[in-house]
Amino acid sequence: MNEQSTHQRVALVTGANKGIGRSAAEQLAELGMTVLVGARNPVRGEEAAAAVRAAGGDAHAVTLDVTDPATVKAAATQIDEHYGHLDVLVNNAGITGSGQVSPQDAHDQIPSSVDLDMVRAVFETNVFGVIAVTNAMLPLLRRSQSPRIVNVASHAASVSLMSDPDGPFGALLPSAAYTPSKSALLALTVQYANELRKEGILVNAVAPGFVATDSNNHTGFVPVEQGAAVLVRLATIGSDGPTAGFFGEEGPVPW
Ligand code: NAP
Repeated sequence: MNEQSTHQRVALVTGANKGIGRSAAEQLAELGMTVLVGARNPVRGEEAAAAVRAAGGDAHAVTLDVTDPATVKAAATQIDEHYGHLDVLVNNAGITGSGQVSPQDAHDQIPSSVDLDMVRAVFETNVFGVIAVTNAMLPLLRRSQSPRIVNVASHAASVSLMSDPDGPFGALLPSAAYTPSKSALLALTVQYANELRKEGILVNAVAPGFVATDSNNHTGFVPVEQGAAVLVRLATIGSDGPTAGFFGEEGPVPW
C-alpha cells in the first residue's frame, strides 16, 4: 500500500464489508481498481478485503465509521500517505434505523409517533456521515484525473414517486427517518455536484433497487450484484458523463 502513482485508480467504498457495498467493491476490483474497503469494524473489513484479494483483486481494509470524525480523518490521512489521491468515492454506508426490519415495514418510523433520537441517528449516518466523509476525501479526489462521487440513495428517496398516491411507493408505510434521510441525500448530491462541476468532479446519486441484504432481512428481490452494478456504473462514467443526476438500473429516476 505505498504506491504514489497517479495512474493507479483508487476507489473507496464506505460500508463495504457486506451487502451492496461489498459487491460494489468486488466489481470495482474486477475492473482493475485498487479498492479500499471502508468498514467500521476492522475485522469485518479485513475479511472482506481478503476475499477480494483471494479473487485476484487489489483491496485493503480502511477503518471508517462515517459518524466518527476521528476515523474519517484517519482514513483520509491513510489514503493520502499510501496513494496521494482518490479517484472514486462511493458513499454507501447506511442504516434503516429499524434494526433488521425493512424500511418498508418499519412501523416505528411512522411520522406522528417516531422516536426523534432514532431519526437523528439515521440522519447522522445517512446524511451527516456523507458530508463528513466527502469533505475529508475531497482534497484527495481533487488530485484525481477523473474524480467521481456516488451517493447511494433509494427509489424511496424520490419525493415524486412517494407523493403519487396511485404509485407503488405511495402505498409504502410513511417514514420520518430512513426515507427523508435519503431524500436529503438526493438534495445534497445536487448541491455538491453544482459546487464541484467546474472542477470536473462528477457527483451522482443512485437507487440500487430492492436488494436482498441484511438491511431488509433478505426480503429484497434484486440480487446484490445487480444492485451494486448501478453504483459501479456511475463510479466509472467518462468525463462526458452526467453530474447532479439520480439513476437506477432502469435509467434516470425522478427526484
Ligand atoms: P447492509 O447489508 O446492512 O450494509 C450496510 C453497510 O453499511 C454495512 O457495511 C454497515 O456496516 C455499514 N454501516 C452502517 N453504519 C455505518 C457507519 N456509521 N459507518 C460505516 N459503515 C456503516 O445494507 P445494504 O442493503 O447493503 O445497504 C447499502 C446502502 O444501500 C445503504 O445506504 C442503503 O440505505 C442503500 N439501499 C439499500 C437498498 C436495499 O434494498 N438493500 C435499497 C435502497 C438503498 P456494519 O456491518 O458494521 O453494520
